[in-house]
Amino acid sequence: MGQQLRAEVCVVGGGPAGIVLGLLLARAGIEVVVLEKHDDFLRDFRGDTVHPSTLNLIDALGLRERFDAVPHTPLPTLDAVVNGVRLRAVDFTTLPPPNRFVTLMPQWDLLDLLASEGARHPSFHLVMGAEATDVTRGEGRVRGVRARTAEGELVVEAKAVVAADGRASAMRPALGLEPWVYGVPADVLWFRLPEPQTPMPATLGWATADAIIVTIPRPGYLQCGMIIPKGAVDATHAAGLDAFRARVSATVPPLRESAAALVSWDDIKHLSVRIERLWRWWIPGALCIGDAAHAMSPVFGVGINYAVQDAVATANALIPAFHAGGAPEAIDRAFTAVQRRRALPTALMQAMQRGVHRVIATGRGLRLLHNPPTRGERALLRLVLPLARRVMSRLVGYGFRPERLRR
Ligand SMILES: Cc1cc2nc3c(=O)[nH]c(=O)nc-3n(C[C@H](O)[C@H](O)[C@H](O)COP(=O)(O)OP(=O)(O)OC[C@H]3O[C@@H](n4cnc5c(N)ncnc54)[C@H](O)[C@@H]3O)c2cc1C
Repeated sequence: MGQQLRAEVCVVGGGPAGIVLGLLLARAGIEVVVLEKHDDFLRDFRGDTVHPSTLNLIDALGLRERFDAVPHTPLPTLDAVVNGVRLRAVDFTTLPPPNRFVTLMPQWDLLDLLASEGARHPSFHLVMGAEATDVTRGEGRVRGVRARTAEGELVVEAKAVVAADGRASAMRPALGLEPWVYGVPADVLWFRLPEPQTPMPATLGWATADAIIVTIPRPGYLQCGMIIPKGAVDATHAAGLDAFRARVSATVPPLRESAAALVSWDDIKHLSVRIERLWRWWIPGALCIGDAAHAMSPVFGVGINYAVQDAVATANALIPAFHAGGAPEAIDRAFTAVQRRRALPTALMQAMQRGVHRVIATGRGLRLLHNPPTRGERALLRLVLPLARRVMSRLVGYGFRPERLRR
C-alpha cells in the first residue's frame, strides 16, 4: 500500500520556481506539498545568479538578514572583453535602489535558505527524494500527482498541480503539453578554472573571432563556458585537449596558466542549449512554470530570474483563488492569468536570445571592434555604450515585466 498526502497545491520540482512558489503559498496559509526528486539541493552548476528582482523578493519576505549571512559575491558591474578591448557592458548601479547589483550565491545555498524559511510554516511540506512520474485525473481535470520514493509510491491529491520540474520536465508529457522547440545553433562546453594569480575585474565574457567564453566568478574558481556551434563537440574533441586549452588561453589571456588545470575531457561538460516554450501552459487542474514552461538559453543569464518571476506571478494569481474557496473554475482562471502575464515577457527574452545565437553562429558582430578601436569605433562606443549598458542592466537584472509580490 503506497502513501497518500492531501494538499491544496502540489508543486513538482524543488528548483528556484518550485521552492519560491511553495514558500509563497505556505506563507499565505495554503497547504502545499513540494516534491523534489533529489535527496538534496547539491548538484551540478546551474547558475548562481541572484538578480535584483529576486533580491527585492528576499527583502519583501523579510529574509535579507538571513540571506546576507550566506556567503555571496555582489557584482555591481560586469565587463565584456571584445577582441582584447575591455568594455563595461553591464552597470547595475544604473538601476533603482536598493538592489543595484547581481550577486552570486551557490544555488543550493539559496534553495536551502528558501526551503528552511518555508519549513517555518506549518502548511509547507517539502518531500525530498520523491520523483513525480504521472498525474492522477478525475472529473475532467488533474487531481494530483503520483511519485516514486524509496518507501514506495506516493500519491498526492491536490486541487491544483504546478509543474516546476525543469527543462526535462516529466510532467509536461504527462499533461499532454508539448513545447515549441526553437532551433539553437550553439552549445556550451562548461568547465572550471582556478582563479588567476593576479585578480581580474568581474568579467562576464570574452569574445574573439575564434571563440566566446563566459567566465562566472564563484568562490575560489571561475565557472567558464565556451560557446561552440551546435554539433561541434566531436570536432572539438578530435582537435585535442591541447588545442582546447590553447583556445581558452588565446581568448582569455589572464587564464593562460589556469587552463593547465584541464587535464581530461571529463573536466569539460557539454550542455545542449535549448530554447523552448509551451503554446499552452495549463490544462484544467495543472500549470507549468519556469523551465518546464520555457527552457531559456544561458544568454543574459536570466533563467533563474524568469523561474522566480513565474513563481511570484503564480502565487499572486493562486492565493486569491484559494482564499476565495479554491473552486476549480477560479484555479483555472488563475492559471490563464499566469500564462497571460508571463508568456509575452518570456517570448520577448527568447527572441533576443535567438538573435544573439544567430550572431554567434555566423560570427557576425564578433569582429566588430579592432584592437585598439579605430576612431570611428571609439566615437560609436561613446555614443552607444551608456545606453546599451542601461538596457543590458535592466534586461539582466529584471527582464521584461518584473513581478511584484501582492500583499
Ligand atoms: C549549466 C547551466 C548554467 C546556467 N546558468 C544560469 C545563470 O547563470 N543564470 C540564470 O539565471 N540561469 C542559468 N541557468 C538556467 C537556470 O538554471 C534555469 O533556468 C533555472 O534553474 C530554472 O528553474 P526551474 O525551477 O524552472 O527549474 P530547475 O532549476 O531545473 O529545477 C527543477 C527541479 O525539479 C526537479 N525535478 C525534475 N524532475 C522531477 C520530477 N519528475 N519529480 C520531482 N522533481 C523533479 C529537479 O531535480 C530540480 O530540482 C543555467 C542552466 C544550466 C544548465
